[in-house]
Amino acid sequence: MESLKDDCLFCKIIQGKIPCKKVYENETVFAFLDINPIAVGHTLVIPKYHAAQCHEVPEDYMAGIGKALSVVAKAVGAKNYNILQNNGSIAHQAVFHVHFHIIPKDAKQGLGIQWPATNPSGDELEKTAEEIKSRI
Ligand code: 5GP
Ligand code: ZN
Repeated sequence: MESLKDDCLFCKIIQGKIPCKKVYENETVFAFLDINPIAVGHTLVIPKYHAAQCHEVPEDYMAGIGKALSVVAKAVGAKNYNILQNNGSIAHQAVFHVHFHIIPKDAKQGLGIQWPATNPSGDELEKTAEEIKSRI
């Protein structure tokens, strides 16, 4: 498959060169169980396109990911869950093929999050919004 890379772990999993517990696949997306789950049912949803970070994935593959997250999250069947996607090693990315974690959450298992909320002024928020808009 042209969109994949020979020396990538998840590209190899997509191609069946490395085994996995697959739960779903279509033309643009592949989903399988995480090998070291932090909750039962912890699933990874990945594009059949090799890119390290989310913003590098073509929009049609991202559209496929959006649909697959809905399909697979329903099937995982958790009442409470997190969808997590890490970009860059400082942001806790360990495998450099874009992947979305679906992680069931209950009192005993799942994702722990630090959320260091700040309290910027309206002007500061406006400036940030303008900067982002100017790059779209
Ligand atoms: P990251 O920290 O990059 O967002 O998450 C990478 C995830 O990939 C981890 O949760 C890890 O357990 C999972 N993982 C790493 N290697 C393999 C593998 O060979 N097979 C499967 N199924 N999952 C893997
Ligand atoms: Zn890859």
